[in-house]
Amino acid sequence: MTKVLYEQQCRKYANLELDPIKFKNMIENANPQLKGFFNYMVNTIVPKERSAHNQNEAKKSIVGLCYLIAGLRNKFVNQHKLEVGLYLMASGATWESIDTISSLRYSACAKTVEEYRKKTQKEHIIKIEKYFIENKNILHIYNIDDYHSIHEIRQPNTVSTSLAKHFATCVAKPINEFPSVPLVFNGISIHNPLNVEASRICWYLINYYTGRFDFSYLQKHSIINQSYRIEMLTIHDYNDNIIERKKERSMKGLQLVGFEEQYLHSVFDYINALKIILSINNRTQHLRGFVAPVVADWSGQLFIRKALRIQTLNSPQEINSFLPILGPLHVSLNSREQVMLIYHSFFERLFHFVFGKNKKLAKKPRPWRINLLLELAKCGWLKIKDQVIKKFGKVCKDIEYQTAIDLLDNLIPAVIDIYATLFRSGLFEEYVETIFRIWTFALRWKRKNYNKAPLVFLSDLFYWKDNDHPFFNALQKHLSCFNDYYVENTHSKIRANTSPNATVDNIIKQAYVIMNHDSIFKDTYCKTRHYPYNIPTLDFLSNKTSLFLLQYFRDLYHNLEKTTLGEEVDLRRLPTGYSTSCPPITGLCDRCKLPFVNEDGIIFICGHGYHTNCYNKKCIYCEEFYKRGIFENVNSFLKRIEKGADILTQEDFDDDENNIEEGEEQSEEVEIQEISNRLEIEIHQIENW
Ligand SMILES: [Zn+2]
Ligand SMILES: [Zn+2]
Repeated sequence: MTKVLYEQQCRKYANLELDPIKFKNMIENANPQLKGFFNYMVNTIVPKERSAHNQNEAKKSIVGLCYLIAGLRNKFVNQHKLEVGLYLMASGATWESIDTISSLRYSACAKTVEEYRKKTQKEHIIKIEKYFIENKNILHIYNIDDYHSIHEIRQPNTVSTSLAKHFATCVAKPINEFPSVPLVFNGISIHNPLNVEASRICWYLINYYTGRFDFSYLQKHSIINQSYRIEMLTIHDYNDNIIERKKERSMKGLQLVGFEEQYLHSVFDYINALKIILSINNRTQHLRGFVAPVVADWSGQLFIRKALRIQTLNSPQEINSFLPILGPLHVSLNSREQVMLIYHSFFERLFHFVFGKNKKLAKKPRPWRINLLLELAKCGWLKIKDQVIKKFGKVCKDIEYQTAIDLLDNLIPAVIDIYATLFRSGLFEEYVETIFRIWTFALRWKRKNYNKAPLVFLSDLFYWKDNDHPFFNALQKHLSCFNDYYVENTHSKIRANTSPNATVDNIIKQAYVIMNHDSIFKDTYCKTRHYPYNIPTLDFLSNKTSLFLLQYFRDLYHNLEKTTLGEEVDLRRLPTGYSTSCPPITGLCDRCKLPFVNEDGIIFICGHGYHTNCYNKKCIYCEEFYKRGIFENVNSFLKRIEKGADILTQEDFDDDENNIEEGEEQSEEVEIQEISNRLEIEIHQIENW
């Protein structure tokens, strides 16, 4: 067997084979005398009464044992030992402890491991240059993001921020079937000479999206089926070890362009990060005359735009290639968090009803819990929606009722779908429209930064479209590749494969090992975890949420006409109409100010209501509100680009602190009860409220 494994490693340069069945076949095929050997080992060592799962796990350790035996007989059969050594080194084991394990022959010695890591880092630069020379004609999507070495959850305070080491990560994802896009096409540059154009966005609002946002998201978009429900719920968990996410293939072909110690807090930091790409380009010339889209968070978009304006680099030609683009994952994460924050009291009641009175809902729950609560609210609502809306009638302008409808039928489904469904399915038209819609939310929430970032994206997009720039086509055809997931997944891998107290040098070496080295060892032996809830549990929870919503609407129904606005009403919670210069008037048509007769009229999702004949394709008050919002925010963004701070302000910081998903918050134990009958009955009862 030693001979077989030696041949595999040193003559055929094959990778480790850790799959028990493939391993058995491999040694038996290479040498028929070994037929039965592996099974003999298994039968001798693994007790038969073990469960099928445990037996299979034990077989994997027998594979490890075979490599160990071979390594004892021949020190050149050391692949498996090297893997153990790399793993120990990544986990922060000391050289001494690695050498001790090495004396047991379980691991390679520390020096060998370290040399391997050095070699990997050194060869990486050659490899990446070769890659870009060979693939210079293919469009690549870049991600640049900040990685910091904080492992556990901490309040961002001065102490932890200064202790953390900061790195700039740059990755590139090829779109294999798509050629590089020229910067200038038919005399039209990828960069709009007017930068961001409020008037162009307004033209689209008025002529293309006429009245679209007067209707709820669910009224305008059909519900896309939920076959990947658990996968959807883990959308902001960038870790690989969740079973439900294992199938994500999108990391295929991803290149680590560079990983360096570098803050990303100012325009000059970003220029340094861009130099990682430019220094490769110096030898490969793959950027020359072509677009290099950089999908980034808020600070990335802001500072790369500033850098483009300043063009302080030595090679002003090349920096023009960079095109900052709105990151869909960040839009999704931020808008979900914002819904949770603004409607916290609602979600707290829902949470207590579904999970128990004594449970505590954090002010800012972890992303996975936000996803769960939003998803439950959505599913719970869909089951009762038609009957509830029928009960309240067509012209109910009650402010609390309209607020609830806006939340359940508009905000929640839009922020759930934007990334998980629309973006990843490449539904381009729907995605663009919903980005616009989410911007209208951010506008009324007065959400700093996110009331500007989507506008910048829309302005660029409409400019390319109107001018037939081929980049529009790239975006339309391959939307789902313009993702910021790649860098988040990379960070998640680095975090999972480094120890909390690792040195800068250690983290950098480890990053190159992770991105260049087959992760078969960890994939085989690492414990995977499951999403805490299975489908029957989720069904039970969403039925329970339906019961909560029924109770909620029944109370609203009995208090109709009685609701008076409290002293301090948070305008951000109310439908958009209440933020306009003409807030909805109770019981009357907002156009002619006359009452509704025989339910002749429509109440829109903005809270405004019109007689059928008074509504002419759009809510005039809300359109005015959006138009003003577009001009104000575009102007303020342009000012920031031209004159504003070159470093991150406190406001920017708040936005980028929250893009990391780490650790776990305890999930609740759920005991399933049979409640679907009760739900049926209660839905029938709606008529009798
Ligand atoms: Zn009217
Ligand atoms: Zn309106």
